[in-house]
Amino acid sequence: MPGFELFGDAERKEVNEVLDSGVLMRYGFDGARTDWKAVKLEKLLAERMQTQYAQLVSSGTAALSVALVSAGVGAGDEVIIPTFTFVATFEAVLAVGAIPVLVDVDETLGLNPKAVRNAITERTKAIMPVHMCGSMVDLDPLVVLCKKYSLVLIEDACQAIGGSYNNKPLGSIGDIGCFSFDYVKTITCGEGGGLITNNKDYYRNADHYSDHGHDHIGKDRGAEGHPFLGYNYRISELHAAVGVAQIQRLDDFLATQKKYYLILEEALKTIPEVTFRKIPEGGVQNYSFISFFLPTETEAKAAHTSLGQHGVDASFYWFDNNWHYHTKWEHLKELKSLNQFSDSIEKAVFSSEEKDFSASDQVLSRTISCLIKLSWTEAQVHARAKAMVAAINVVLG
Ligand SMILES: *Cc1c(COP(=O)(O)O)cnc(C)c1O
Repeated sequence: MPGFELFGDAERKEVNEVLDSGVLMRYGFDGARTDWKAVKLEKLLAERMQTQYAQLVSSGTAALSVALVSAGVGAGDEVIIPTFTFVATFEAVLAVGAIPVLVDVDETLGLNPKAVRNAITERTKAIMPVHMCGSMVDLDPLVVLCKKYSLVLIEDACQAIGGSYNNKPLGSIGDIGCFSFDYVKTITCGEGGGLITNNKDYYRNADHYSDHGHDHIGKDRGAEGHPFLGYNYRISELHAAVGVAQIQRLDDFLATQKKYYLILEEALKTIPEVTFRKIPEGGVQNYSFISFFLPTETEAKAAHTSLGQHGVDASFYWFDNNWHYHTKWEHLKELKSLNQFSDSIEKAVFSSEEKDFSASDQVLSRTISCLIKLSWTEAQVHARAKAMVAAINVVLG
């Protein structure tokens, strides 16, 4: 997955241009400026994702928060999120004063549409599916639910940039789509994030809100108006410069990932007990991970250990993982916070503590995901495929 593996001359050139100009900020300083890297990256991102608008921000987490606020989600609103995601998803919801409502995932490793339907209440304002590990949630049923109940659909596509669903780029299907350009994502800015949308109001809101409410009208920052409150979620020109180079390499990265994915998949298919993560009809992965199931929790756990013993690095057993699965989110479930949350959040989160997520557990307890690295050689991938098969066969006896 990580674009940082292929940081090189193209990235250095873009960054050096910013350093030479001395203008490290994305707004203002027009006289001294030689380029507009953030603006350029926004254009490239919107083009590649086939949306009208793109707004860069300081991180993927910021993109999620800005997306929620831009769509009017706030205090007391419920936002449906999956039990399997990176913690940033619920952090972003809490940050805007809304209530994260955890909902089961299915064998797509994303939100189960039926479970989503059952979780909708009159306080639900948004559904935030997360396209984990390079593949996607089945979006059509969620689009239908959002229409029916007038909900906002915000796609967290931070781990699946470049994947598609019914020929549309992931992130472009919902009302707003969010990406992360942190250091370990498919393309990186070092730190950074972005959101895409076709909704002009949401875009304008995101543009202002991520820069203290500045309306960005005129040439004098100090004289700009502030129609509403905002925060500072700006990306710097230095970070955007890295992204300008990386996004132009995205399709090469995806091709490499796909090639390596197919080699690993072919090898794993020789093991009858191994089944693969469900890809929704019309879905094309970005191939940043390969995810598969063992028949039982015991076998999955043992296979994960065995993979390590066979020298297969970067394999993940999410069920036991500190950051990506609900069983390890005591800090959320007990609201261990440095400051006080609103009553509505406290009540909602504490009352959901005992929820039954056995349907998610049934899936995640059997799941193993392996990162696909861009820096491997093809020979290394073949050796790795062999090692994976050996490691798993030992466990299955
Ligand atoms: C990485 C990630 C984020 C957050 O992105 P940052 O840029 O690290 O803040 C959000 N959601 C998912 C699914 C992620 O993988």
